[in-house]
Amino acid sequence: MAGSRTIFVAGAGIGGLTVSLALAARGFRVVILEKSERLEEIGAGLQLSPNASRVLVALGLQPRLAGRAVTPEAISLMSVRSGGEVARLPLGEVAARSGSAASSKTSPPMPRG
Ligand SMILES: Cc1cc2nc3c(=O)[nH]c(=O)nc-3n(C[C@H](O)[C@H](O)[C@H](O)COP(=O)(O)OP(=O)(O)OC[C@H]3O[C@@H](n4cnc5c(N)ncnc54)[C@H](O)[C@@H]3O)c2cc1C
Repeated sequence: MAGSRTIFVAGAGIGGLTVSLALAARGFRVVILEKSERLEEIGAGLQLSPNASRVLVALGLQPRLAGRAVTPEAISLMSVRSGGEVARLPLGEVAARSGSAASSKTSPPMPRG
């Protein structure tokens, strides 16, 4: 059934690309329609939340992400007045061990509209 169906996805943003990979993994033929003429990086990077990272890993992208992503050790909230640290949220391996937040930052090509 899936192999005989073609699904058209509008937009090659992270949402369109992710759903396209998921559909392709289930045997659908996917055609992505993107209005931008080319895909390119925008900004400094993209911080992916743990739930988003898990979806990409489940789609088999871990090896490709590993070469481009960095895992910050923590989010540090700083005081403008004193310059000192107000609060610290562990990320990465520390957070993974404790079951709390984990995060990665990567720069996949993104379409510029
Ligand atoms: C400066 C900035 C920094 C950000 N940083 C982060 C971050 O660190 N972490 C994070 O999680 N999120 C971040 N975001 C938000 C994140 O970029 C968006 O939530 C995410 O890109 C949305 O993905 P999307 O696929 O839904 O939409 P989009 O990325 O907007 O993709 C939609 C695509 O559809 C195309 N399109 C639209 N209409 C049509 C049409 N009619 N036909 C064909 N194609 C069409 C567009 O050209 C576009 O390529 C940031 C956003 C900005 C602007």
